[in-house]
Amino acid sequence: METVEDLALHKLPIRNLPRPLYEAPESEVAVRRIMGRVTTYVLKFLSDKYVEQGFEWLLPVVFSKSTDPLWPDPGASIEKRIRCEIYGEVVNTMTSMIVHKMIACSIAFPKLFTYSPNIRIEKRERAYSGVHAYEFTQLDFEVRDASSKDIRSFVEKVICELIRCLRRDMREELLKLGRYEDLAEFEPPFEVYDRAALLKSYGDQWEDKIKLSNRPLWITNIPREFYDFEDFESGFWDNYDLILPGYGEVLSGARREWEYDKLVRKMRRDGVSERDYALLLKLAKEGKLKPTAGAGIGVERLIQWIVGAKHIGEVQPFPKIPGVVYDL
Ligand code: AMP
Ligand code: MG
Repeated sequence: METVEDLALHKLPIRNLPRPLYEAPESEVAVRRIMGRVTTYVLKFLSDKYVEQGFEWLLPVVFSKSTDPLWPDPGASIEKRIRCEIYGEVVNTMTSMIVHKMIACSIAFPKLFTYSPNIRIEKRERAYSGVHAYEFTQLDFEVRDASSKDIRSFVEKVICELIRCLRRDMREELLKLGRYEDLAEFEPPFEVYDRAALLKSYGDQWEDKIKLSNRPLWITNIPREFYDFEDFESGFWDNYDLILPGYGEVLSGARREWEYDKLVRKMRRDGVSERDYALLLKLAKEGKLKPTAGAGIGVERLIQWIVGAKHIGEVQPFPKIPGVVYDL
């Protein structure tokens, strides 16, 4: 059996994992070409929607002293963090643009979005999860003074309209991909479930259970990173994940913390270095950080679900599969 050891990679059998375009047979390239057309449609649709709704389109950042700690998050599984030195300063590759979004939204752009490349060196056993890549893109957006409900309603409208338009304009492509029949149209609002209640009813495997639903749904109240809003009195986390039918999580978002005291208290509790977030804390202390809410949509995951690909690497021209490093 061909293993990655043969290829000096990392002890993962690469059979059945998506190959890069330049190694795929023509039949597979033909399928990828159709997925590419759907991708183009989705990117144009989403960008148009955000621009129409008055969002400013920011270009992304790749290096930064301050980035997402990805901790604590029940879903995180990071093998390694990429830091390097430039001009005598240590910078990280971006795990997400959360810090940049919160600051830009507070100071200059009350409605913003960006397509942000994220580097997350996921544990290599996630190669076969089918939904993890070590490089991917988030459609990341943030709105000043918005509530969680505002964000959820906006996302519901966008997703429902996207499916409706895809079925109208990409019928041929979806038929060829065998996805036209199954990609059902939905109407807002989507149901909202509390994570604690799901955990109680279904145990640790709750996500496997709820993704079998035939409608998209929201999960709220997820204990995670310091920047998601937590009500210290009730213990409720005002955040949300969107779960797509037959698939799983495609979006995470929240109303954000903006008050200095709460931010510091949560960082200390979580063991997150205050030094790594010195600027965010300084702005919060000066009252320059504003209440915002937003979310990040995993672009490759959304497309994977739309086209019905088994592995996220199939929708990446140059797959970035945990543990597998191709030439390109
Ligand atoms: P997060 O805030 O960490 O949940 O990331 C936002 C969104 O990015 C998630 O809801 C996923 O859709 C997507 N995402 C997160 N990690 C990965 C990954 N390793 N590969 C592909 N997409 C991811
Ligand atoms: Mg998440």
